[in-house]
Amino acid sequence: MPTVYENYVDGEWVVSESGDTFDVQNPAEPSSIVGRFQSSSPADVDAAIDAAVAAQETWANTPGPERGDVLKRTGELLEERKESATEALVREEGKTRSEAAGEVQRAIDIFAYYAQKSLDLGGISKSPSGRNKDLYTKREPLGTVGLITPWNYPVAIPAWKLAPALAAGNTAVVKPASAAPGMTAILFECLDEAGLPDGVANMVTGSGSSVGTPLAEHDDVDGVSFTGSTAVGTSVAQTAADDLKRVQCEMGGKNPTVVMPSADIEEAVEILGVGAFGTTGQSCTAASRAIVHEEIYDEFVDAMVEYATDVEIGAGLDDPDMGPHVSKSELESTLEYVELGQQEGATLETGGERPSGAEYEEGYYVEPAVFSDVDNDMQIAQEEIFGPVLSVIEATDFEDALALANDVEYGLSASIVTQDLTEADEFVDRIEAGVAKVNEKTTGLELHVPFGGYKNSSTNTYREQGDAGLDFFTSTKTVYRN
Ligand code: NAP
Repeated sequence: MPTVYENYVDGEWVVSESGDTFDVQNPAEPSSIVGRFQSSSPADVDAAIDAAVAAQETWANTPGPERGDVLKRTGELLEERKESATEALVREEGKTRSEAAGEVQRAIDIFAYYAQKSLDLGGISKSPSGRNKDLYTKREPLGTVGLITPWNYPVAIPAWKLAPALAAGNTAVVKPASAAPGMTAILFECLDEAGLPDGVANMVTGSGSSVGTPLAEHDDVDGVSFTGSTAVGTSVAQTAADDLKRVQCEMGGKNPTVVMPSADIEEAVEILGVGAFGTTGQSCTAASRAIVHEEIYDEFVDAMVEYATDVEIGAGLDDPDMGPHVSKSELESTLEYVELGQQEGATLETGGERPSGAEYEEGYYVEPAVFSDVDNDMQIAQEEIFGPVLSVIEATDFEDALALANDVEYGLSASIVTQDLTEADEFVDRIEAGVAKVNEKTTGLELHVPFGGYKNSSTNTYREQGDAGLDFFTSTKTVYRN
């Protein structure tokens, strides 16, 4: 029997009023069910929002250090079960053991970080216009927030939304992605054990239409923070805008790495290989376009193909280089893009097929793919594939490479590999992306720096993580006191 998970509402584990459940499979072994979750209804969402609204004033009035203690304890409890949480993440999402351990550690660190932040939410003192007067600002919580999260970082992303929300005195309802809700449930077990007061944080599982939309629509929700695809994020932003709710949507990417002739090819290939094939290409910041100067194009393609063919694929618990896709539909989508790329006239240099061998028959595996002769107008160069597929595009010079890098609807992360400082500076100044890197992979960001995108990668009003992570969850009040 799979583990049955319930919703967490008003400090209790409860079943959905719908009476329905859904199952989540192990992507490396889909016949194995890793968890059974509540298929919640809008009525469950209403109950969770009611609990969050009722708890908000008391939580906001709880001294910051006390709120911080709960967050700190939550991180400690997750650390105590780091090993089992890592394995649960591997089984649920398909990450490799190293990737999963890194993500769980990130969630632990996020709780410790925002526990500190709850001691100092910010606010400034200004010079008043006369004696015996005060003029200052204070940050107040937004209220009750809805947090809608994707499956690809199923513990780190709920953590990086929930921890700053709670640190600032908000209450929350979290709707995790249906492909991997179990990690959010583990986080809530830790919050519960850490002594979080009833109603302060609630979790409701179920589909986007039955849980996500009602959460984004609800009149009593003061803000919605969403991470996921650009298509869904756009509809969430429109829904929330109907009643002028504060909204933050962090969405897809089509991230370029430019490789210039001064680059060390081996270093560039490593940067692209980890960026494109790490987490099976299922990162919003995954490198999906290598934009390579014509002088080194052929040499780069040869080396990239060699790298891709060496990638060891397998079940995450064995800690190979690359695990399976999270689901059958994600695998099929990648295979369709591989087919499409060939129809569009790109050359499939390697990969893009299901690996052969009995051990790969059941799981959602695909070989990492490298396309050459890619035109930037092709769909494979413009659309987010969200799989281990790298398009290598030829550029005539730096200006051409920069123009190609910017010629997409997305603007999340971008990097350049070069030894030329002037090129590096020009790239940083002119790339249309929320994250610009020099001689680094497009993936990976430390928790104390702001993260978000330009263009259709983000609503681009707020940033997540670091100090900036508190901005969405607070309002600034200016105070005059005579
Ligand atoms: P998704 O399909 O857009 O789903 C994201 C979340 O929205 C899930 O919880 C989903 O629920 C929910 N949802 C679906 N339809 C909804 C609706 N109509 N109203 C409200 N909520 C709805 O994205 P995903 O496949 O989980 O994640 C992959 C995407 O996330 C990629 O595009 C990736 O680039 C992006 N991402 C961006 C960042 C970033 O920081 N920019 C980070 C990570 C991932 P169900 O799961 O139940 O459908």
